[in-house]
Amino acid sequence: MAPRYKCIETKLVHAGEPEPRILGAVSMPIFQSAMFEYAGETDYHDLKYIRLNNTPNHVALHEKLAALENAEAALVTASGMAAISTALLTVLSSGDHLLAQDCLYGGTHDLLTRDFSSFGLSYDFIDGDDPDSWKSKLRPNTKAIYVETISNPLMQVCDLQAVVRFAKEHGLVSLIDNTFASPMNFRPPEWGFDLSLHSCTKYLNGHSDIVAGAVIGNAPWVERTKRKLDHLGGSLDPHACFLLHRGIKTLALRVRFQNQSALRIAQFLERHRQVARVNYPGLESHPRNARAGELFNGFGGMLSFELNGGVEAAQSFMKSAQLPVLAPSLGGIETLLTRPATTSHSGMAPEDRRRVGISDSLIRVSVGIEATEELIEDFEQALGG
Ligand code: PLP
Repeated sequence: MAPRYKCIETKLVHAGEPEPRILGAVSMPIFQSAMFEYAGETDYHDLKYIRLNNTPNHVALHEKLAALENAEAALVTASGMAAISTALLTVLSSGDHLLAQDCLYGGTHDLLTRDFSSFGLSYDFIDGDDPDSWKSKLRPNTKAIYVETISNPLMQVCDLQAVVRFAKEHGLVSLIDNTFASPMNFRPPEWGFDLSLHSCTKYLNGHSDIVAGAVIGNAPWVERTKRKLDHLGGSLDPHACFLLHRGIKTLALRVRFQNQSALRIAQFLERHRQVARVNYPGLESHPRNARAGELFNGFGGMLSFELNGGVEAAQSFMKSAQLPVLAPSLGGIETLLTRPATTSHSGMAPEDRRRVGISDSLIRVSVGIEATEELIEDFEQALGG
């Protein structure tokens, strides 16, 4: 059947909304009820209960999220890490091996390096940009390959098409953390990925007031992940579902503005004499600018940069900047600054950080929806003019 709504802007507003409207309500009401009366269900996983991820608030979000990435199905979770850990524990069983990109979000990196062995799982890191080197890491028990659309915090864009080809050739499940791109800029199921994962805490919700996650992809894998989540218990509360549902509706307006603003800020920084290096896929100087242009509808709201003058210069910039908030996380309406070596990536050994190129002075910016020119003015004064 042809999809009901053609454009993502329309899907954001209308996909998954209850029909008919519940008592005429224009916004999705909150169903804050732990359980619902039996209605003839015979399977445990179908009983209506918040932990079983099937209240009306869950169902509406599942339909909306699946529509956004043109996928068969979706599942919301209690956090991005709940989405990532549950999807990995669904795809992998004790004894299995995972290939994972070597520059991952710190929480995912820590899950692999610190927790995997206690589940009987193993992994090898791969250079996402060097497909020729992947085969040497394959083992008979390799079951899946895991990458990020735009890597955190260096904004690398690995060879995503090669990942899908490699997965199909070797019978692996392909998983991708699509948080940085959001469904506005990239839709992994359209490119053949099995599972697309999100921290909805970031762009999808967009207002920095909840933690939530999502697993989007083909129906059998999403259903298996739902059943695992039913047991692990990382379900999103209906009130948080409501906030996510409300936030999602403005994703197109926010992300389009953030794409444009981040590009202008990256261009400004690249021209500034105090700036040594800027990482942003939309810059012509980015080594994968052409690939990002081919794959993405926009280059995103995230960038990172290094100043001449190392850690001291970075600290001074962060102290002098007036508009951005110094806080972890990303994807909200307010501009945020962090130094990944002391925050999101502090769990990585310093030599591992150096190996992948995360210097102690690297500053990461999540560009919000403030006026671009006012942010640039503020960055200019913080750089000393
Ligand atoms: N994936 C990426 C790329 C992230 O940046 C984060 C958090 O910062 C996560 C996953 C984890 O998400 P959450 O904090 O919602 O668990």
